[in-house]
Amino acid sequence: MEPDQRIRTKITPLIILAFAVHILLLLSVLDIYFTSPLEHGMIHHRANISNPPARRLVLLLADGLRASALFNKDMPTATPFLYSIKENEGAWGIAHTQVPTESRPGHIAIFAGFYEDPSAIFKGWRDNPVDFDTVINQSTKSVCFGSPDIVNMFNKYNYSHITSYYYDPLMEDFSGKWKSVVLDQWVMEHSKKYIQSGRLSGSQDGVIVFLHLLGIDTAGHSFKPVSMEYKLNIEELDKEINLFVKFFTNYFHDNDTAFIFTSDHGMTDWGSHGAGSKDETEVPFIAWGSGIPKTAERHDLNLTDIAPLISALLGINFPTNSLGITPLHFLNAPIKDTAQIVYANALQLYELFMAKEKKIKKNPIVVFKPFYKLPKEKLIGWKSYMEDLFQMENYQEVIKFTENVINNLVEGIKYYNSYFQIYLSLLSTLAFIGWLLYLISWLPIFSNVYSSIGTGDWNYHNIKEKPLSVVFLFLNVIGFVISRAMGFIYYYTLYVLFPMASWYLVYLRSNYMRLLYNWLMQFKVRTLLSFAITYGIGTEMLVSCFLFNKTKSRCGI
Ligand SMILES: [Zn+2]
Repeated sequence: MEPDQRIRTKITPLIILAFAVHILLLLSVLDIYFTSPLEHGMIHHRANISNPPARRLVLLLADGLRASALFNKDMPTATPFLYSIKENEGAWGIAHTQVPTESRPGHIAIFAGFYEDPSAIFKGWRDNPVDFDTVINQSTKSVCFGSPDIVNMFNKYNYSHITSYYYDPLMEDFSGKWKSVVLDQWVMEHSKKYIQSGRLSGSQDGVIVFLHLLGIDTAGHSFKPVSMEYKLNIEELDKEINLFVKFFTNYFHDNDTAFIFTSDHGMTDWGSHGAGSKDETEVPFIAWGSGIPKTAERHDLNLTDIAPLISALLGINFPTNSLGITPLHFLNAPIKDTAQIVYANALQLYELFMAKEKKIKKNPIVVFKPFYKLPKEKLIGWKSYMEDLFQMENYQEVIKFTENVINNLVEGIKYYNSYFQIYLSLLSTLAFIGWLLYLISWLPIFSNVYSSIGTGDWNYHNIKEKPLSVVFLFLNVIGFVISRAMGFIYYYTLYVLFPMASWYLVYLRSNYMRLLYNWLMQFKVRTLLSFAITYGIGTEMLVSCFLFNKTKSRCGI
């Protein structure tokens, strides 16, 4: 064979192998950091109170509205209705969310109390592969109006107590030809019609009315948030909300409604969202009405805290997978009821914590290390202590003590969520180092790398190859058995075999590695060090390009 052709026959399988390795590495990253956090089969908990703070709740959700676009010096004139509510009628703050700042994950955070199962990335954040519980499921009746993508998300199983009304998706026009506020007007008009028809009984408890308002998001994508169109949509929405709230309050006439105005995610100056900048993760939050205190002071919360707040206000079950903590700054209830609400929130988190702990305990291979802040004795003692305090009517102490337990439970749930991370990251790091060494052995940095040694086969065969292959096979079988016993899903076993395979490849190329070593040894230590530093800085700069938005433009990405 001609040298050129020989190189080609060696390079093609190498490229295929490299492709497979990178797919596996990408999958391992997703599995390490993006595994489904959802558990199933837990008992539900709701606050043990006879009169919930509110009978019904209206959630007005302005999709894509960033906090700075509402809470600014123009607020009194641009959005006088929301401004007067914020100042005189209710409580407000900034709700913080996290990546991916997309509509679906944002809505799930609000209604289910957790940041969406990251495995939904494979479905483009449009569907969740795993079923989940929401305040909408748990309400006695919910009626949702808005974009079909959003309102249909919460009634996959067509429960009779949930009704959704949505417009034709063709109405969502990002070209800017139509005024985006028509989407909001559609929602207002149809929800008013629905209420006027008398289908929402005034005497029913635990009712949610959800208005999904997509106008601002549409204007932001078409014209950017600094545009007149985005601002105008906010101003017009303020008027629409004013009219709707007046209509709603007049219709029911009982002061038993709580209102929440918020958003699912913000938007960057260039009209995009999805990443983790402040403009994208900070959204406005204003609450008023039944069960909500009047305070002009700002109190921030997490987007996931809205779900337990809704459960608390309506006295309905907390969603089972919620990691939210009831934000007491937004709750105006007798201390006795507040204590019951906080306790029920803790019991729900306790169920989730125990479900996660049980799963790891059940695993015969994993060394079970309980979360150090919540050993078994402490958890049992906590419940009976609470019962005593309730009997003594020491509600202040219930709240104080339970808030601490809640923080520990949330921390513990996160601890168990990442339990397998350490195993998997260790394996893929080992595999990747092996793979890099193997690749280095193919670098044409010395002229005879492809041809001078060996028989010309793709992998130069070593003398000790046979016994080592047996060892390799044996290790693989053990790895497979262990990973199956650990309850890894089938392709997880690939991660166990992956490091062994990559180091076996390194072994096969050990003669080339020796050559490389000799080649490197020609240089002075000082030269080698300066090489390492230069490459180190270069790599760091590349990495920072991906991490920081601001450096992005400088790197030209
Ligand atoms: Zn959007």
